[in-house]
Amino acid sequence: MSDMELRAWVYSAVQLDEALDNADIAAVYAPMRLLSEKYAGRADRLILLPPEFLGGAENETERGLLRLRELGFSRALAHTSGHIGLLGRTGFEICGGSRLNCTNSEAMRFFADCGLCDIIVSTELTVQRINRLKKPIKTGFMAYGAMPLMLNRRCPVRDGRPCGGADKKCGRQMTDRKGNRLNVLCSEDSVEILNSDTLVLSDKLGDFGTDFAVLRFTYETDIRRVINAYVNGERPDSGRFTRGLYYRGVQ
Ligand SMILES: [Zn+2]
Repeated sequence: MSDMELRAWVYSAVQLDEALDNADIAAVYAPMRLLSEKYAGRADRLILLPPEFLGGAENETERGLLRLRELGFSRALAHTSGHIGLLGRTGFEICGGSRLNCTNSEAMRFFADCGLCDIIVSTELTVQRINRLKKPIKTGFMAYGAMPLMLNRRCPVRDGRPCGGADKKCGRQMTDRKGNRLNVLCSEDSVEILNSDTLVLSDKLGDFGTDFAVLRFTYETDIRRVINAYVNGERPDSGRFTRGLYYRGVQ
C-alpha cells in the first residue's frame, strides 16, 4: 500500500469514462480529441493532451485549446518545450510530460521557473536519481504501461499518414526483424511504436519519493484491474513485464 497519488493517462473514450468514474484516480490525462462540453463538469480532474507534433497544425491546435479553455478546462500537458508557449498563450496551467526529459535538479528548477505546475520526470532516470532530485514543483513518474520506443510522424504499417484515433485502419501490430510483435498506436498526428513488455511497478510505488504516479493506458480493456493492483500494491503476475530503466544497475 502506498499513499501516492495515482493519475491515469488514457487513449480511448471508454478508458476516459472509467478513469473519471474511479475514485482512486486523482487526475486523468486525456487526448483533446476525446474532450467536449460533456466533460466540462469534471474539468478539475482532467489534464488535456495536445497533439505531440505542433508543426503544421499549431493554429488548429490553438483554436481547439481556446475552445476547450472556454468550456472550463484549465490544465494541459506540455510534451515538449514548444508546447509551453502555446499552452501559456491559451491560458492553461501547464503540466510537464516525460518527453521534456527532465533528468536533474537544474532542469527541475528551469521548468518550475517556466511556470509549470508539475512534471513527470524522464523515464531514463533510476529510482535513486529520481529520489535525489530537488523538487520545487509536484513531481511524478511513469509507473505503468506499454512505453513508446519510438515516435513517428507516419504510420509504419500503412506507410502513410497516421490513421487516427481508436478506429484506426492499420491494426495494432508490426513485427520487427527479430520476430517481436510490437504494438503500434496511431493518433491523429503521430504514431508510437510501443514496447512489447509492459512497465509494471504496482508493488514498487513505495520506493519512489514522488507526489504522483502515472498509469498509461493504450489498448487495455480492463483498466480497473490495473488500478486496483496499484492501490493494493500487488506483485505483478509472472509473464512479460518490465521495470523499465528505474532499477538498472541495482538488480
Ligand atoms: Zn496506423
